[in-house]
Amino acid sequence: MAQMRQKLETPVKRLAFQPIVERDFCKGCILCVDLCPVAALDMTDDYNSLGYHVAYLRGVCTGCLICEKICPELAIKVTEKPI
Ligand code: SF4
Ligand code: SF4
Repeated sequence: MAQMRQKLETPVKRLAFQPIVERDFCKGCILCVDLCPVAALDMTDDYNSLGYHVAYLRGVCTGCLICEKICPELAIKVTEKPI
């Protein structure tokens, strides 16, 4: 019983996810924007040093990692932190 109570009282660990885009690696292909299942990504109006628009987080990321896995330039790293 005490063990069960301890389990119930253990706070649920919640995480906030944030995709970090390496601006100058991005080639503006829009794959990540199109494939994000929650439409959390968009493209900047400005350009990086290579002359491309850059993906950025505009919504709430669920941490599915699709963008990180499909980016052909390895420009995205999804980070997480406790909230
Ligand atoms: S990790 Fe998933 S939810 Fe988050 S921005 Fe990338 S594709 Fe979208
Ligand atoms: S998939 Fe990669 S290269 Fe393409 S827009 Fe997204 S971050 Fe940029």
